[in-house]
Amino acid sequence: MELYNIGIIGGGPAGYTAAFAAAKQGKKVILFEKDFLGGVCLNKGCIPTKTILHSSELYKKALNGMDFGVNAQGISIDYKKVTERKNFVIERLRKGLELAFKNLKITVVNSEAKILSKNEIEARGEVYNCEKIICAVGSSPRVVKGLEFDHEFLLSSDDILELKKLPRSIVIVGSGAIGTEWARIFNNFGVETTVVELASNILPLADVEVSKRLERIFKSEGIKFYTSTTIDKIENKNLFLSNGEILSPELVLVGVGRKPNEVEKIEGVEYIGDVSGEIQLAHFAIKQAYDVIENIDFRKDLTPSVVYGSPEIAWVGKREQDLAGEEYKKSMLLVSSLGKAQCDGETEGFIKLLTQEDKIVGAHIVSSEASALIQQILIAMQFGISAEQLKEVCFPHPTYSEGIFESLFRLK
Ligand SMILES: Cc1cc2nc3c(=O)[nH]c(=O)nc-3n(C[C@H](O)[C@H](O)[C@H](O)COP(=O)(O)OP(=O)(O)OC[C@H]3O[C@@H](n4cnc5c(N)ncnc54)[C@H](O)[C@@H]3O)c2cc1C
Repeated sequence: MELYNIGIIGGGPAGYTAAFAAAKQGKKVILFEKDFLGGVCLNKGCIPTKTILHSSELYKKALNGMDFGVNAQGISIDYKKVTERKNFVIERLRKGLELAFKNLKITVVNSEAKILSKNEIEARGEVYNCEKIICAVGSSPRVVKGLEFDHEFLLSSDDILELKKLPRSIVIVGSGAIGTEWARIFNNFGVETTVVELASNILPLADVEVSKRLERIFKSEGIKFYTSTTIDKIENKNLFLSNGEILSPELVLVGVGRKPNEVEKIEGVEYIGDVSGEIQLAHFAIKQAYDVIENIDFRKDLTPSVVYGSPEIAWVGKREQDLAGEEYKKSMLLVSSLGKAQCDGETEGFIKLLTQEDKIVGAHIVSSEASALIQQILIAMQFGISAEQLKEVCFPHPTYSEGIFESLFRLK
Protein backbone atom coordinates (compact mmCIF):
# COMPACT_ATOMS: atom_id res chain seq x y z
CA MET A 1 0.00 0.00 0.00
CA GLU A 2 1.25 3.46 -0.93
CA LEU A 3 2.49 5.60 1.95
CA TYR A 4 2.20 9.39 1.86
CA ASN A 5 4.35 11.70 3.97
CA ILE A 6 1.51 14.19 4.36
CA GLY A 7 -2.26 13.72 3.98
CA ILE A 8 -4.39 16.86 3.97
CA ILE A 9 -8.16 17.18 4.11
CA GLY A 10 -9.46 20.45 2.71
CA GLY A 11 -8.20 22.43 -0.27
CA GLY A 12 -8.72 25.97 1.07
CA PRO A 13 -5.87 28.41 1.90
CA ALA A 14 -4.79 26.33 4.92
CA GLY A 15 -4.80 23.03 3.02
CA TYR A 16 -3.29 24.14 -0.27
CA THR A 17 -0.57 26.23 1.42
CA ALA A 18 0.44 23.24 3.54
CA ALA A 19 0.36 20.99 0.46
CA PHE A 20 2.54 23.30 -1.65
CA ALA A 21 5.04 23.92 1.15
CA ALA A 22 5.38 20.20 1.90
CA ALA A 23 5.69 19.23 -1.77
CA LYS A 24 8.43 21.85 -2.23
CA GLN A 25 10.32 20.09 0.57
CA GLY A 26 10.17 16.93 -1.54
CA LYS A 27 7.40 15.29 0.53
CA LYS A 28 4.87 12.96 -1.03
CA VAL A 29 1.55 14.73 -0.51
CA ILE A 30 -2.08 13.76 -0.98
CA LEU A 31 -4.95 16.23 -0.58
CA PHE A 32 -8.69 15.51 -0.37
CA GLU A 33 -11.23 18.13 -1.42
CA LYS A 34 -14.95 17.41 -1.60
CA ASP A 35 -15.89 20.58 -3.42
CA PHE A 36 -13.63 23.05 -5.27
CA LEU A 37 -9.94 23.71 -4.73
CA GLY A 38 -9.45 27.12 -3.16
CA GLY A 39 -12.02 26.55 -0.41
CA VAL A 40 -14.32 29.23 0.92
CA CYS A 41 -11.72 31.95 0.32
CA LEU A 42 -11.58 31.48 -3.44
CA ASN A 43 -15.07 30.16 -4.14
CA LYS A 44 -17.39 31.81 -1.60
CA GLY A 45 -15.43 34.35 0.40
CA CYS A 46 -12.51 36.71 -0.07
CA ILE A 47 -12.24 36.60 -3.86
CA PRO A 48 -15.88 36.65 -5.05
CA THR A 49 -16.85 39.40 -2.60
CA LYS A 50 -13.90 41.58 -3.53
CA THR A 51 -14.59 41.06 -7.23
CA ILE A 52 -18.23 42.14 -6.89
CA LEU A 53 -17.18 44.97 -4.57
CA HIS A 54 -14.83 46.23 -7.26
CA SER A 55 -17.65 46.32 -9.83
CA SER A 56 -19.86 48.20 -7.38
CA GLU A 57 -17.14 50.76 -6.68
CA LEU A 58 -16.46 51.25 -10.36
CA TYR A 59 -20.17 51.88 -10.89
CA LYS A 60 -20.28 54.42 -8.09
CA LYS A 61 -17.13 56.16 -9.31
CA ALA A 62 -18.55 56.31 -12.83
CA LEU A 63 -21.76 57.88 -11.51
CA ASN A 64 -19.65 60.57 -9.82
CA GLY A 65 -17.27 60.88 -12.76
CA MET A 66 -18.17 64.49 -13.39
CA ASP A 67 -16.53 65.40 -10.03
CA PHE A 68 -13.28 64.46 -11.77
CA GLY A 69 -14.15 66.01 -15.12
CA VAL A 70 -15.15 62.67 -16.60
CA ASN A 71 -18.46 63.01 -18.36
CA ALA A 72 -19.83 59.48 -18.59
CA GLN A 73 -23.47 59.11 -19.51
CA GLY A 74 -26.01 56.32 -19.60
CA ILE A 75 -24.29 54.40 -16.82
CA SER A 76 -26.12 51.31 -15.64
CA ILE A 77 -25.48 48.00 -13.95
CA ASP A 78 -25.61 44.66 -15.72
CA TYR A 79 -25.61 42.41 -12.66
CA LYS A 80 -25.46 39.27 -14.80
CA LYS A 81 -22.17 40.52 -16.22
CA VAL A 82 -20.95 41.39 -12.72
CA THR A 83 -21.48 37.79 -11.60
CA GLU A 84 -20.06 36.39 -14.84
CA ARG A 85 -16.87 38.34 -14.21
CA LYS A 86 -16.82 37.10 -10.61
CA ASN A 87 -17.05 33.50 -11.90
CA PHE A 88 -14.35 34.17 -14.48
CA VAL A 89 -11.96 35.49 -11.79
CA ILE A 90 -12.65 32.46 -9.58
CA GLU A 91 -12.11 30.03 -12.45
CA ARG A 92 -8.89 31.68 -13.53
CA LEU A 93 -7.45 31.56 -10.02
CA ARG A 94 -8.69 28.00 -9.56
CA LYS A 95 -6.95 26.92 -12.77
CA GLY A 96 -3.74 28.46 -11.38
CA LEU A 97 -4.13 26.39 -8.24
CA GLU A 98 -4.84 23.21 -10.20
CA LEU A 99 -1.72 23.78 -12.27
CA ALA A 100 0.38 24.30 -9.15
CA PHE A 101 -0.92 21.00 -7.71
CA LYS A 102 -0.02 19.28 -10.97
CA ASN A 103 3.43 20.84 -11.25
CA LEU A 104 4.25 19.94 -7.66
CA LYS A 105 3.02 16.37 -8.28
CA ILE A 106 0.55 16.46 -5.43
CA THR A 107 -2.16 13.82 -5.58
CA VAL A 108 -5.61 15.41 -5.39
CA VAL A 109 -8.61 13.23 -4.54
CA ASN A 110 -11.91 14.96 -5.32
CA SER A 111 -13.93 13.42 -2.56
CA GLU A 112 -15.16 13.83 0.96
CA ALA A 113 -12.65 12.30 3.35
CA LYS A 114 -12.62 11.17 6.95
CA ILE A 115 -9.78 10.77 9.38
CA LEU A 116 -9.78 7.26 10.84
CA SER A 117 -6.66 7.54 12.98
CA LYS A 118 -3.60 9.77 13.21
CA ASN A 119 -2.16 7.96 10.18
CA GLU A 120 -5.23 6.91 8.16
CA ILE A 121 -7.67 8.78 5.95
CA GLU A 122 -10.69 7.18 4.35
CA ALA A 123 -12.16 8.40 1.07
CA ARG A 124 -14.23 6.70 -1.63
CA GLY A 125 -14.12 3.47 0.38
CA GLU A 126 -10.32 3.37 0.35
CA VAL A 127 -7.89 3.90 3.19
CA TYR A 128 -4.84 6.10 2.62
CA ASN A 129 -1.82 5.82 4.92
CA CYS A 130 -0.04 9.04 5.83
CA GLU A 131 2.85 9.71 8.18
CA LYS A 132 1.25 13.00 9.15
CA ILE A 133 -2.31 14.25 8.73
CA ILE A 134 -3.47 17.84 8.50
CA CYS A 135 -7.14 18.65 8.90
CA ALA A 136 -8.06 21.92 7.18
CA VAL A 137 -11.80 21.49 6.61
CA GLY A 138 -12.74 25.12 7.26
CA SER A 139 -15.96 26.63 8.58
CA SER A 140 -19.61 27.28 7.65
CA PRO A 141 -21.99 30.22 8.07
CA ARG A 142 -23.28 30.42 11.64
CA VAL A 143 -26.99 29.78 12.03
CA VAL A 144 -28.92 32.03 14.43
CA LYS A 145 -32.08 30.84 16.16
CA GLY A 146 -35.10 32.46 14.54
CA LEU A 147 -33.04 33.47 11.49
CA GLU A 148 -32.39 30.03 10.04
CA PHE A 149 -31.50 30.24 6.34
CA ASP A 150 -34.33 29.37 3.97
CA HIS A 151 -32.02 30.27 1.05
CA GLU A 152 -34.76 32.38 -0.58
CA PHE A 153 -35.54 35.22 1.80
CA LEU A 154 -33.08 34.57 4.63
CA LEU A 155 -29.74 34.19 2.90
CA SER A 156 -26.25 33.14 3.96
CA SER A 157 -23.03 34.62 2.59
CA ASP A 158 -22.95 31.61 0.24
CA ASP A 159 -26.50 32.23 -1.05
CA ILE A 160 -25.89 35.91 -1.69
CA LEU A 161 -23.28 35.01 -4.32
CA GLU A 162 -25.95 33.19 -6.31
CA LEU A 163 -28.25 36.21 -6.74
CA LYS A 164 -29.34 36.58 -10.35
CA LYS A 165 -30.46 40.16 -9.92
CA LEU A 166 -30.10 42.94 -7.40
CA PRO A 167 -32.90 43.28 -4.85
CA ARG A 168 -34.77 46.52 -4.30
CA SER A 169 -33.89 46.47 -0.61
CA ILE A 170 -31.89 44.33 1.80
CA VAL A 171 -31.42 44.00 5.53
CA ILE A 172 -28.02 42.77 6.62
CA VAL A 173 -27.83 41.16 10.04
CA GLY A 174 -24.37 41.63 11.56
CA SER A 175 -21.81 44.33 10.86
CA GLY A 176 -18.55 42.42 11.02
CA ALA A 177 -16.30 42.35 7.95
CA ILE A 178 -18.74 40.25 5.89
CA GLY A 179 -21.81 42.35 6.79
CA THR A 180 -20.00 45.64 6.27
CA GLU A 181 -18.54 44.66 2.90
CA TRP A 182 -21.91 43.49 1.60
CA ALA A 183 -23.61 46.62 2.95
CA ARG A 184 -21.13 48.67 0.95
CA ILE A 185 -21.62 46.54 -2.17
CA PHE A 186 -25.42 46.79 -2.14
CA ASN A 187 -25.37 50.46 -1.25
CA ASN A 188 -22.94 51.21 -4.10
CA PHE A 189 -25.32 49.44 -6.49
CA GLY A 190 -28.17 51.65 -5.26
CA VAL A 191 -29.98 48.98 -3.23
CA GLU A 192 -31.78 50.31 -0.13
CA THR A 193 -29.50 48.87 2.55
CA THR A 194 -30.10 48.52 6.29
CA VAL A 195 -27.74 46.94 8.82
CA VAL A 196 -28.96 45.47 12.11
CA GLU A 197 -26.25 44.96 14.74
CA LEU A 198 -26.64 43.42 18.18
CA ALA A 199 -23.57 45.16 19.65
CA SER A 200 -23.52 48.81 20.65
CA ASN A 201 -21.23 49.73 17.72
CA ILE A 202 -21.02 48.90 14.06
CA LEU A 203 -17.94 46.72 13.35
CA PRO A 204 -17.83 45.74 17.01
CA LEU A 205 -14.36 44.18 17.01
CA ALA A 206 -12.69 47.38 15.83
CA ASP A 207 -11.26 50.28 17.84
CA VAL A 208 -14.20 52.37 19.02
CA GLU A 209 -13.08 55.41 17.01
CA VAL A 210 -12.99 53.26 13.88
CA SER A 211 -16.51 52.01 14.57
CA LYS A 212 -17.75 55.55 15.16
CA ARG A 213 -16.12 56.75 11.94
CA LEU A 214 -17.70 53.92 9.99
CA GLU A 215 -21.08 54.85 11.42
CA ARG A 216 -20.50 58.38 10.16
CA ILE A 217 -19.51 57.02 6.74
CA PHE A 218 -22.61 54.78 6.66
CA LYS A 219 -24.77 57.82 7.41
CA SER A 220 -23.18 59.95 4.72
CA GLU A 221 -23.47 57.10 2.20
CA GLY A 222 -27.11 56.49 3.05
CA ILE A 223 -26.68 53.08 4.69
CA LYS A 224 -29.24 52.84 7.46
CA PHE A 225 -28.15 50.99 10.60
CA TYR A 226 -29.43 49.98 13.99
CA THR A 227 -27.06 49.13 16.87
CA SER A 228 -27.97 47.33 20.14
CA THR A 229 -30.84 45.87 18.14
CA THR A 230 -32.03 42.35 17.42
CA ILE A 231 -34.71 40.86 15.22
CA ASP A 232 -37.33 39.51 17.60
CA LYS A 233 -39.49 37.74 15.04
CA ILE A 234 -40.22 37.42 11.35
CA GLU A 235 -43.77 37.21 10.04
CA ASN A 236 -44.70 37.28 6.37
CA LYS A 237 -41.26 38.65 5.49
CA ASN A 238 -41.68 41.48 8.01
CA LEU A 239 -38.82 41.85 10.49
CA PHE A 240 -39.89 42.96 13.96
CA LEU A 241 -36.95 44.69 15.60
CA SER A 242 -36.34 44.86 19.34
CA ASN A 243 -36.70 48.66 19.15
CA GLY A 244 -40.28 48.32 17.94
CA GLU A 245 -39.61 49.11 14.28
CA ILE A 246 -40.77 46.83 11.49
CA LEU A 247 -38.69 46.37 8.33
CA SER A 248 -39.99 44.79 5.12
CA PRO A 249 -36.99 44.19 2.87
CA GLU A 250 -36.93 42.11 -0.27
CA LEU A 251 -34.03 40.04 1.11
CA VAL A 252 -32.16 39.44 4.35
CA LEU A 253 -28.48 38.52 4.53
CA VAL A 254 -27.54 36.89 7.82
CA GLY A 255 -23.82 37.52 8.23
CA VAL A 256 -23.19 36.86 11.89
CA GLY A 257 -19.95 34.95 11.61
CA ARG A 258 -18.92 31.39 10.92
CA LYS A 259 -18.46 28.28 12.98
CA PRO A 260 -15.67 25.73 12.54
CA ASN A 261 -16.87 22.62 10.71
CA GLU A 262 -17.44 19.75 13.09
CA VAL A 263 -14.71 17.14 13.23
CA GLU A 264 -13.76 14.47 15.67
CA LYS A 265 -10.49 15.61 17.25
CA ILE A 266 -7.80 12.94 16.96
CA GLU A 267 -4.52 13.25 18.82
CA GLY A 268 -1.51 13.70 16.58
CA VAL A 269 -3.53 15.32 13.78
CA GLU A 270 -2.84 19.02 13.08
CA TYR A 271 -5.90 21.26 12.79
CA ILE A 272 -5.28 24.46 10.88
CA GLY A 273 -7.29 27.29 9.33
CA ASP A 274 -10.88 28.09 10.24
CA VAL A 275 -11.48 24.63 11.70
CA SER A 276 -8.88 25.34 14.39
CA GLY A 277 -11.41 27.71 15.99
CA GLU A 278 -8.89 30.53 16.17
CA ILE A 279 -8.83 33.58 13.89
CA GLN A 280 -11.02 32.99 10.84
CA LEU A 281 -9.03 34.75 8.16
CA ALA A 282 -7.28 33.38 5.10
CA HIS A 283 -3.91 34.96 5.95
CA PHE A 284 -4.07 33.43 9.44
CA ALA A 285 -4.78 30.02 7.86
CA ILE A 286 -1.80 30.48 5.54
CA LYS A 287 0.53 31.38 8.42
CA GLN A 288 -0.65 28.34 10.39
CA ALA A 289 0.13 26.15 7.38
CA TYR A 290 3.69 27.49 7.13
CA ASP A 291 4.09 27.04 10.87
CA VAL A 292 3.09 23.37 10.63
CA ILE A 293 5.18 22.52 7.56
CA GLU A 294 8.17 24.85 7.78
CA ASN A 295 8.18 25.71 11.49
CA ILE A 296 7.96 29.40 10.62
CA ASP A 297 6.67 30.76 13.87
CA PHE A 298 4.34 33.75 13.83
CA ARG A 299 2.78 36.15 16.27
CA LYS A 300 -0.94 35.54 16.35
CA ASP A 301 -1.49 38.87 18.09
CA LEU A 302 -0.10 40.56 14.98
CA THR A 303 -2.76 39.20 12.63
CA PRO A 304 -4.16 42.19 10.74
CA SER A 305 -7.87 42.74 10.08
CA VAL A 306 -9.08 44.40 6.91
CA VAL A 307 -12.53 45.50 5.82
CA TYR A 308 -12.66 46.33 2.13
CA GLY A 309 -14.61 49.04 0.38
CA SER A 310 -14.25 52.76 0.22
CA PRO A 311 -12.42 53.78 2.35
CA GLU A 312 -10.69 50.59 3.46
CA ILE A 313 -10.41 49.86 7.15
CA ALA A 314 -7.43 48.01 8.62
CA TRP A 315 -6.09 47.46 12.07
CA VAL A 316 -3.66 45.44 14.09
CA GLY A 317 -2.70 45.13 17.73
CA LYS A 318 -4.30 46.84 20.67
CA ARG A 319 -7.36 49.05 20.37
CA GLU A 320 -7.59 52.21 22.43
CA GLN A 321 -10.29 50.62 24.62
CA ASP A 322 -7.80 47.82 25.43
CA LEU A 323 -5.36 50.35 26.89
CA ALA A 324 -7.74 51.88 29.44
CA GLY A 325 -5.83 52.56 32.63
CA GLU A 326 -2.43 52.11 30.95
CA GLU A 327 0.07 54.74 29.86
CA TYR A 328 0.25 55.20 26.12
CA LYS A 329 0.74 57.77 23.41
CA LYS A 330 -1.65 58.35 20.54
CA SER A 331 -1.55 60.12 17.20
CA MET A 332 -4.51 60.93 15.02
CA LEU A 333 -3.92 62.14 11.48
CA LEU A 334 -6.80 63.00 9.21
CA VAL A 335 -6.37 61.54 5.73
CA SER A 336 -7.73 64.79 4.28
CA SER A 337 -4.39 66.41 5.18
CA LEU A 338 -2.58 64.22 2.63
CA GLY A 339 -1.87 65.52 -0.86
CA LYS A 340 -2.53 62.15 -2.47
CA ALA A 341 -5.92 61.86 -0.76
CA GLN A 342 -6.91 65.24 -2.19
CA CYS A 343 -5.66 64.24 -5.67
CA ASP A 344 -7.77 61.08 -5.56
CA GLY A 345 -10.80 62.65 -3.89
CA GLU A 346 -10.43 59.99 -1.17
CA THR A 347 -10.31 62.30 1.83
CA GLU A 348 -12.40 60.32 4.31
CA GLY A 349 -10.64 58.67 7.23
CA PHE A 350 -7.71 58.75 9.61
CA ILE A 351 -4.51 57.05 10.65
CA LYS A 352 -4.29 56.37 14.35
CA LEU A 353 -1.20 55.00 16.06
CA LEU A 354 -0.90 53.86 19.65
CA THR A 355 2.53 53.48 21.27
CA GLN A 356 3.90 52.36 24.59
CA GLU A 357 7.54 53.06 25.44
CA ASP A 358 8.01 54.27 21.85
CA LYS A 359 6.91 50.92 20.34
CA ILE A 360 3.76 50.79 18.23
CA VAL A 361 1.24 48.57 20.02
CA GLY A 362 -1.78 49.31 17.84
CA ALA A 363 -2.60 50.86 14.46
CA HIS A 364 -6.09 51.72 13.23
CA ILE A 365 -6.52 53.03 9.73
CA VAL A 366 -9.58 54.22 7.83
CA SER A 367 -8.23 55.26 4.45
CA SER A 368 -7.85 54.42 0.83
CA GLU A 369 -5.08 51.75 0.64
CA ALA A 370 -5.39 50.95 4.37
CA SER A 371 -4.76 47.26 3.57
CA ALA A 372 -1.30 48.16 2.23
CA LEU A 373 -0.54 50.77 4.89
CA ILE A 374 -1.13 48.36 7.76
CA GLN A 375 1.58 46.09 6.38
CA GLN A 376 4.23 48.76 6.86
CA ILE A 377 3.26 49.11 10.50
CA LEU A 378 3.16 45.34 10.93
CA ILE A 379 6.79 45.06 9.92
CA ALA A 380 7.74 47.68 12.52
CA MET A 381 5.67 45.92 15.18
CA GLN A 382 6.96 42.45 14.32
CA PHE A 383 10.60 43.48 14.53
CA GLY A 384 10.30 45.94 17.40
CA ILE A 385 11.21 48.99 15.31
CA SER A 386 10.46 52.01 17.47
CA ALA A 387 8.51 55.07 16.39
CA GLU A 388 11.76 57.08 16.68
CA GLN A 389 13.55 54.62 14.34
CA LEU A 390 10.67 54.69 11.84
CA LYS A 391 11.18 58.43 11.50
CA GLU A 392 14.51 57.61 9.82
CA VAL A 393 12.68 55.92 6.91
CA CYS A 394 12.07 57.96 3.74
CA PHE A 395 8.40 57.72 2.69
CA PRO A 396 7.56 58.59 -0.96
CA HIS A 397 5.47 61.64 -1.83
CA PRO A 398 2.60 61.98 -2.62
CA THR A 399 1.30 58.80 -0.98
CA TYR A 400 -1.04 57.70 1.76
CA SER A 401 1.97 56.15 3.49
CA GLU A 402 3.24 59.66 4.21
CA GLY A 403 0.41 59.70 6.70
CA ILE A 404 2.25 57.07 8.74
CA PHE A 405 5.41 59.20 8.69
CA GLU A 406 3.48 62.32 9.73
CA SER A 407 1.70 60.39 12.48
CA LEU A 408 5.02 59.55 14.11
CA PHE A 409 5.56 63.26 14.85
CA ARG A 410 2.12 63.65 16.39
CA LEU A 411 2.37 61.03 19.12
CA LYS A 412 1.46 62.48 22.47
C1 LIG B 1 -17.98 36.28 2.50
C2 LIG B 1 -16.61 36.02 3.07
C3 LIG B 1 -15.60 36.93 2.86
C4 LIG B 1 -14.33 36.70 3.38
N1 LIG B 1 -13.35 37.62 3.15
C5 LIG B 1 -12.12 37.42 3.67
C6 LIG B 1 -11.07 38.34 3.40
O1 LIG B 1 -11.24 39.36 2.73
N2 LIG B 1 -9.85 38.09 3.92
C7 LIG B 1 -9.61 36.99 4.70
O2 LIG B 1 -8.48 36.81 5.15
N3 LIG B 1 -10.57 36.08 4.95
C8 LIG B 1 -11.83 36.27 4.45
N4 LIG B 1 -12.80 35.34 4.68
C9 LIG B 1 -12.47 34.16 5.52
C10 LIG B 1 -11.72 33.11 4.69
O3 LIG B 1 -12.47 32.75 3.57
C11 LIG B 1 -11.42 31.90 5.56
O4 LIG B 1 -10.74 32.32 6.72
C12 LIG B 1 -10.53 30.90 4.82
O5 LIG B 1 -11.18 30.43 3.66
C13 LIG B 1 -10.21 29.71 5.73
O6 LIG B 1 -9.42 28.81 5.03
P1 LIG B 1 -9.42 27.26 5.37
O7 LIG B 1 -8.43 26.64 4.45
O8 LIG B 1 -9.24 27.07 6.82
O9 LIG B 1 -10.87 26.73 5.08
P2 LIG B 1 -11.81 26.81 3.78
O10 LIG B 1 -11.41 27.89 2.87
O11 LIG B 1 -13.20 26.81 4.33
O12 LIG B 1 -11.53 25.43 3.06
C14 LIG B 1 -11.90 24.23 3.61
C15 LIG B 1 -12.10 23.22 2.48
O13 LIG B 1 -12.28 21.93 3.03
C16 LIG B 1 -13.22 21.22 2.26
N5 LIG B 1 -13.77 20.15 3.09
C17 LIG B 1 -14.51 20.28 4.21
N6 LIG B 1 -14.77 19.07 4.74
C18 LIG B 1 -14.19 18.15 3.93
C19 LIG B 1 -14.11 16.73 3.95
N7 LIG B 1 -14.65 16.01 4.93
N8 LIG B 1 -13.46 16.12 2.94
C20 LIG B 1 -12.87 16.84 1.94
N9 LIG B 1 -12.92 18.17 1.88
C21 LIG B 1 -13.56 18.83 2.87
C22 LIG B 1 -14.23 22.30 1.87
O14 LIG B 1 -14.97 21.90 0.72
C23 LIG B 1 -13.34 23.49 1.64
O15 LIG B 1 -12.97 23.61 0.29
C24 LIG B 1 -14.08 35.53 4.14
C25 LIG B 1 -15.09 34.59 4.34
C26 LIG B 1 -16.35 34.82 3.81
C27 LIG B 1 -17.42 33.81 4.03
